[in-house]
Amino acid sequence: MACLANDLRELGQPFVAGFSTHPHWDHLLWHARLGAAPRYGTARCAATVRDRLSDAGAKARIAELIPPDIAEQIPLDLLGLITGLPAEMAQIPWDGPQIRIIEHQAHAPGHAALLIEERGVLVAGDMLSDVLIPMLDLNDTADPIKDYLAALRLLEGAAHDVDVLVPGHGSIGGADQVHARLDQDRAYVHALHDAGVPGDPRRGLGRTGRSRGPGGTPR
Ligand SMILES: [Zn+2]
Repeated sequence: MACLANDLRELGQPFVAGFSTHPHWDHLLWHARLGAAPRYGTARCAATVRDRLSDAGAKARIAELIPPDIAEQIPLDLLGLITGLPAEMAQIPWDGPQIRIIEHQAHAPGHAALLIEERGVLVAGDMLSDVLIPMLDLNDTADPIKDYLAALRLLEGAAHDVDVLVPGHGSIGGADQVHARLDQDRAYVHALHDAGVPGDPRRGLGRTGRSRGPGGTPR
């Protein structure tokens, strides 16, 4: 977050808005230097955040999820101040490049990817990672596997002209990576469904180093 603030300052660009792709703590952070710009999310994301942060002990529980070696660098006072956008709003409300909000039910309630069509950029939240296996939302849906596959179809349909894929964890990918990761994730989810043992090379990668899981354990 500090890097973002630095980069924007160096570019002479104002900070106009933020967007939280989903209601896991590591996607709800903020830095005072980013100012008071609105931080949007889907209506369902915002409602989930409100619900989960509603009791006095919520931030203390989140603090326990943060690796101790970086905890001091992660202030939680500005965590989760998300403005929910109405479900029918398909674009980020700003006057910059058009950014399409692609909401789907996978990984977390109200998860959304962002598609900057004129630049060919897909910001995928915690979908389409090259280091994390698909992590299904097991608590907020009756059929997480079916929902996850539907979300992958939705992303695939939107990703025809994507040149740059930006996942929340792992590496940025080019056009070739979009379909490679879609295929890899679909294969993993099908294997889960078939109760096989998925031979996915990303299994276990998320347990080491600083790249912990996306938001700790799914609730
Ligand atoms: Zn997550």
